[in-house]
Amino acid sequence: MILQSRLADRWLWACSRLARFDVAGFQTPLGPIIHTRIDLASTEGQSLLAHEMVHAEQMKRLGRLRFYATYLAQWQRHGYRDMPLQEEARRSTSRPQL
Ligand SMILES: [Zn+2]
Repeated sequence: MILQSRLADRWLWACSRLARFDVAGFQTPLGPIIHTRIDLASTEGQSLLAHEMVHAEQMKRLGRLRFYATYLAQWQRHGYRDMPLQEEARRSTSRPQL
């Protein structure tokens, strides 16, 4: 289930403030949250969905709690750009900024 709503936009706004860069998508146990400004039929939207689906696979592989714990630990240790979970997801998309 893809969540795209004004409430989801507020969550992404909060994530963007914490991350200090624009967050257009976020993987939840229910499915990806995608900002309403993203047209899911566009190349950007399809690329973002592919990226978030890799995170969904990672969450399934690791389990929800371990995924989020690993994500936060990797972010702290490697930084967002270089963290292995992001690199794995980034390989699935042509959009390196995700
Ligand atoms: Zn990602």
